[in-house]
Amino acid sequence: MKIALFWHRRDLRQHDNAGLTAALQSGYPVVPLFIYDREILDLLPSRRDARVTFIYDEVERLARQTAQAGGSFLAFYGRPVEVFEQLLTQHEVAAIYTNEDYEPYAAERDAAVGALAARHGATFQALKDQVIFAKNELLGKSGKPARVFGAYRKAWLDKLQDAHLQPYPSAGLYTAEHLAHVPDAPARPTLSSMGFEEFRQQVPTNELPAEELVRSYHLTRDTPGRVDSSTRRSLHLRFGTLSVRELMHQARELNPKLLAELIWRDYFMMLLWHYPSTATESFEPRLRRVPYRNNEKEFRAWCEGRTGYPLVDAGMRELNQTGYLPNRARIAAAGFLVKHLLIDWRWGDRYFADKLLDYDMAQNVGNWQWMAGTGVVAAPWFRVYSPQSQQEQYDPTFAYVWQWVPEFGTCHYPKPIVEHKFARDRAIETLRTAYRAAGE
Ligand SMILES: Cc1cc2nc3c(=O)[nH]c(=O)nc-3n(C[C@H](O)[C@H](O)[C@H](O)COP(=O)(O)OP(=O)(O)OC[C@H]3O[C@@H](n4cnc5c(N)ncnc54)[C@H](O)[C@@H]3O)c2cc1C
Repeated sequence: MKIALFWHRRDLRQHDNAGLTAALQSGYPVVPLFIYDREILDLLPSRRDARVTFIYDEVERLARQTAQAGGSFLAFYGRPVEVFEQLLTQHEVAAIYTNEDYEPYAAERDAAVGALAARHGATFQALKDQVIFAKNELLGKSGKPARVFGAYRKAWLDKLQDAHLQPYPSAGLYTAEHLAHVPDAPARPTLSSMGFEEFRQQVPTNELPAEELVRSYHLTRDTPGRVDSSTRRSLHLRFGTLSVRELMHQARELNPKLLAELIWRDYFMMLLWHYPSTATESFEPRLRRVPYRNNEKEFRAWCEGRTGYPLVDAGMRELNQTGYLPNRARIAAAGFLVKHLLIDWRWGDRYFADKLLDYDMAQNVGNWQWMAGTGVVAAPWFRVYSPQSQQEQYDPTFAYVWQWVPEFGTCHYPKPIVEHKFARDRAIETLRTAYRAAGE
């Protein structure tokens, strides 16, 4: 009997899933599956990674739900091309469905799996699911992506129709009638069989945020000391345990500022797809040879939250302890690293990549390059935030700082690692010289 495979990646949910809907409507019985990709997992610096445990828990949940619906869910630990080679040999696969992924590695991987499927006479189809507009759907007049967010957001809003936020009917189709049962399905990998330890960090629910929170989002979002200052749904958007359409729909109804933040997410995904080299290189050619200081000792102090600037230190300690930090603290910490310490943005990008539960290449690289002034879309290179003004503006009562830096105000708290005005002048001079050297 011919079957269709549905490959879950960044969409660990059965409801409102574009690719899964297409598979369930294909006319073939569907076998959903997940691959713990060794190309990704082998590169992780620690075997105790809360994201791997999160994925594992969600995959097991999907497997249970599939069994309850009367189907089989497969999971493998390996390299996708090898896993599919085996599946395409063992089963009569008519089609492989999945959802698009815009990271450079994913693009190569999907092309390889697509070519393999074609050799076996199967089709390979990836659908747009994790953003509203992707790839070339929203280009500027020049035929290239807009380099100003305001222009992109306007085009995005002009193009949006109700249909774009309509949920896909996958949950209703997820029944024995549309699912396949695979006899002798191999045992699913466990964390320990893959060499990982169980490590759970507290994560928010994947339900839509409370209406009240969303309504007041624009007033609270810059208050890092409050747990309910923002939606805290980034992890769920990253792994697709929440559908972006649902959250966008709510934001569109209740709060344009939240919708704008979600549009940033679409924007950065599109930019990474168009400019994959920006994952590891500054987009701005004139800032590719900045003589960053890259002082290891200062970098360590930044990582450990010992810079003597309390907002930065609180953020880094929260990150180290929980895997999360609020946007305002991300901005303070990133700005301080690239400007005050003159450390290459890629060092910070890497550190966040290792620690953030919601780590997403497009969002992380996009935001880091924005902070460093090197990106497709970027803050002015000469903007150097004053840590003290940020403290006064966003955490005037030190509520956030006290939460994460209990020794603040005592002799145990370090003195500022560098003086603000000196660091500001040094950063501007260094970047100005880099521009001049590049012929500006
Ligand atoms: C240096 C730096 C690195 C970052 N790295 C990441 C990352 O790896 N993954 C990630 O998801 N976000 C990243 N962000 C963006 C932002 O800080 C987080 O999305 C946000 O703090 C998550 O909390 P929340 O879900 O409560 O966001 P909310 O404020 O409630 O916003 C709702 C959603 O909108 C999106 N969003 C909000 N702000 C941004 C933004 N500036 N850019 C893109 N999307 C945004 C996120 O998907 C977020 O979940 C980074 C920001 C900075 C300054």
